[in-house]
Amino acid sequence: MPMDLSRYPKNWKAIALAVKEAASWTCRECGTDCFKPGEWCGDRSLKAQFTLTVHHADYNPENNHRDNLIPLCSRCHLKKHRGGKRNISPGQLSLFN
Ligand SMILES: [Zn+2]
Ligand SMILES: [Zn+2]
Repeated sequence: MPMDLSRYPKNWKAIALAVKEAASWTCRECGTDCFKPGEWCGDRSLKAQFTLTVHHADYNPENNHRDNLIPLCSRCHLKKHRGGKRNISPGQLSLFN
């Protein structure tokens, strides 16, 4: 399933970064300390688990109100999107929020 990136704002990366910074790079769901960009030098498969992503609480990427943006580690983020028709891998989450 292709991602519809056109629904994301142009400054999405900056928005997402601000959310992660505000959360001190910690997952809101499980409290996992995630790695900041460039901080990781170990196993790539592990890195995916400790990457902080930004989830849209209402699953609408056009709603970028702060209340709608939730910092989640990849694992928790995947859980949010599992159970539906969507089947995504951790690698895709860096783009698919
Ligand atoms: Zn988590
Ligand atoms: Zn999400």
